[in-house]
Amino acid sequence: MTERVATCFCGDYSVTMRGDPMLVSACCCTRCQRRTGSFFGVTAYFRPDQMVAQSGEEKTFRLDDATTRFRQCARCGTPVWYAPDDDGWGEDIMGVSDG
Ligand SMILES: [Zn+2]
Ligand SMILES: [Zn+2]
Repeated sequence: MTERVATCFCGDYSVTMRGDPMLVSACCCTRCQRRTGSFFGVTAYFRPDQMVAQSGEEKTFRLDDATTRFRQCARCGTPVWYAPDDDGWGEDIMGVSDG
């Protein structure tokens, strides 16, 4: 089955996803623009059990009024993937940064 690796800017932190994403989206909301420094935040959505490997050290970040927690590289700070703390999205889903 296809495996895809999402890696941060410096290369220290990565996650490996198995199989195809259920959805790929390009969002242009203000939060996605600020998070990425780009017009669009491009995200591939997977089920959490599709994550088969994780390497490097992560730090996490969550906005005070949000349910989503971002996993970033502890060294360079790139947000690599994110998921809700509870089932705030109502689905078993996680997002991985594309690009
Ligand atoms: Zn990094
Ligand atoms: Zn957005």
